[in-house]
Amino acid sequence: MGFIKLFLHKELSKHLRGEQFIQSLDDGRKVWLDGGLVDHLPQHPAFSGTLKTISRLFNMLDEPGIRESIGFVPPGGKKYVHGSFLVPYSSQDLDKRRTSFDLWSRETHGMMSRLSDYGRSMITGWYAAREEIGKLDPHFESKITAYYEEARDKDLFLTTAILDPQIDRSNGLEDSRINERFLHVVKETSEGIIVRGAKMIATGAPYTHDFIIFSFLNFEEKDHKHAHVLIVPANSEGLNIVCRESFADHRAQNHILSSRYEEMDAVLFFDDVFIPWERVLLYGNSETVLKLRANKTANSLAFHQTVVRYVSKLEFVTGVAFAVAESIGVQGYLHIQEKLGELITQIDVMKALVIASETMAKPDKSGVLVPELSYIDTARNIGTKYYPRAIEILQQVGGGGFVQTPSGMEDFYGPISNQMHLYFEGAAVSAEKKVQLFKLGWDLIGSPLGSRHELYERFYAGDPVRAYANQYVKFEKESLTDPIWKLIKESSKDVY
Ligand SMILES: Cc1cc2nc3c(=O)[nH]c(=O)nc-3n(C[C@H](O)[C@H](O)[C@H](O)COP(=O)(O)OP(=O)(O)OC[C@H]3O[C@@H](n4cnc5c(N)ncnc54)[C@H](O)[C@@H]3O)c2cc1C
Repeated sequence: MGFIKLFLHKELSKHLRGEQFIQSLDDGRKVWLDGGLVDHLPQHPAFSGTLKTISRLFNMLDEPGIRESIGFVPPGGKKYVHGSFLVPYSSQDLDKRRTSFDLWSRETHGMMSRLSDYGRSMITGWYAAREEIGKLDPHFESKITAYYEEARDKDLFLTTAILDPQIDRSNGLEDSRINERFLHVVKETSEGIIVRGAKMIATGAPYTHDFIIFSFLNFEEKDHKHAHVLIVPANSEGLNIVCRESFADHRAQNHILSSRYEEMDAVLFFDDVFIPWERVLLYGNSETVLKLRANKTANSLAFHQTVVRYVSKLEFVTGVAFAVAESIGVQGYLHIQEKLGELITQIDVMKALVIASETMAKPDKSGVLVPELSYIDTARNIGTKYYPRAIEILQQVGGGGFVQTPSGMEDFYGPISNQMHLYFEGAAVSAEKKVQLFKLGWDLIGSPLGSRHELYERFYAGDPVRAYANQYVKFEKESLTDPIWKLIKESSKDVY
C-alpha cells in the first residue's frame, strides 16, 4: 500500500507544473551568491524552501476544485492558467482576478509579493491595452500579443527590474559614469540589440523565467539608446544575477517565515546581452516608454494585485498581534486595545480601497474593465506608512517577549524541560506554543527577513515621497479649489 502511494505520487508529480517549474530553472542561468556561481539552483538551501512554496502554488492550477477559482482556461486552451492572465471585461472577470491574487497571497500570508502574478498582470495589461499602446510603435501590438500568449501558455514566471543602479542620484546621463552604467544599447543588428549596464532591484530574480525591463528616466533625444522596454530571459548569455545575502533559515521552528518565504532580491549585470527584436517591445524614444509606463489599463491591472496581496499581509500581522496579546494576557489594557483597533482600521481601509477600485471600475476604449487607479494609488501610498506602523504596534504589544525565547525548541525535551514549561508558560497558552508564537513574531519584526519586509513595503511601489507628490500633481485640483473661490466670492456680497 505504501509503495503504491509513493508510486502514485511520483507519477503525479511528473506531470504537475510545480515540478516542471523547478526543473525548468536548471537552464544555465548565472546566479551569483556568496562569491560563487550557484550550482543546481533548485537544491540550493538559499532557494529550496521558497521554491517548494512556489511549486505548491503552481500545483494549485492542476487541482480540481481549486484551479477553477485560481485560474481559467483560455480560448482554445486545454489547461488552466493563472487568473493574472485574464483580461477583464466584466465585474465577474475582475472578481476572478482578485480571487486568484487573494488565494496565492493567503497561501503565503502576504509575505511573498513577487509570485509572478504582478509581472504577469503587467504583461496582461500591456496586451489588454495593445491597440492604444500600439499607436506609439507599429510593431508593439504583434510583439506583445505573441509574448502574452507564450507567457500564459507556458506558465512563465516573470519579475520586473525597473530602477537604475544607485550611483549618484544627483546626476543624470550627462555624467559619463552614469551614462555608461545605466542599461543602454551598444549595438543594433538585423536580429536584435545588444545591451550593457545594470538594473536593480529584481525580486525573485534567481528563479524567474523572464525579466520585464524598462528605462526609468526621461531622456533627451541624444540619449535614445537608453530608452527601452525589454523582455529578457534569465539564462541570456552575458546576464549575471547578483544576489544579496540569503535570509533563508531552515530552522523552521525558529523561523517559520524565513524557511519558506525568502524572496531573493538581486541586481542584474548585463554584459553585452543580446535581445532579439521580438523581445524589444519599445526602443529609442524615452517619451514613448514613459507613455507606456503611464498606461492606465496596464497599471491598474498590475497594481490591483499589489493591494490585494497587501491586505493578506496586514491580516497576518494583525493575527499575530492579537495572538501575542492574548498569550501574555495584555489584551484587556486600553492602550493595547487601541493599538489592536488601529490594526483593524488599517485592514478595513485597505479592503475598502480595493472594493472602491473595483466598484468604480470603468471600461477603457477597448472595453477592458479597469479598476479605478486613484484608489489603488492611495492604497499603495498609505501602505508605505501602514506596514511600518503595524510592525511598531506588534513590538509594543509583545515587548521583550520577542527576545525572551530559547534559542531552539530542544530544551523543552532536555534536562531543563520542567522549568521550560514552567517559566515560558503563557496566560492562556502552553509554553511551547507561546515560544513558537513569539519566534514567529520575531521573524516579522527582527529577523533579516522581517527587516527586509519593512524596507520592501516602504519602497516596493517606488520612491514614496515622489509617489505621494505625484498624487497631488495628477489630481484635478479645481474640483476642490473652485468651491473655495466660490465661497469667497459669495461672502463678499453677503452680510452676516
Ligand atoms: C526589498 C525591495 C525589493 C524591491 N523589488 C523590486 C522589484 O522586484 N522590481 C523593481 O523594479 N523594483 C524593486 N524595488 C525597487 C524599488 O522600486 C526602489 O527601491 C524604489 O523605486 C526607490 O528607488 P531607490 O531604491 O533607487 O531609491 P532612491 O531613488 O535612490 O532614493 C533614495 C532616497 O533619496 C530620495 N531621492 C532620490 N532621488 C530623488 C529625487 N530625484 N527627488 C527627490 N528625492 C529623491 C528618495 O526620496 C529616497 O528617500 C525593490 C525595493 C526594495 C527595497
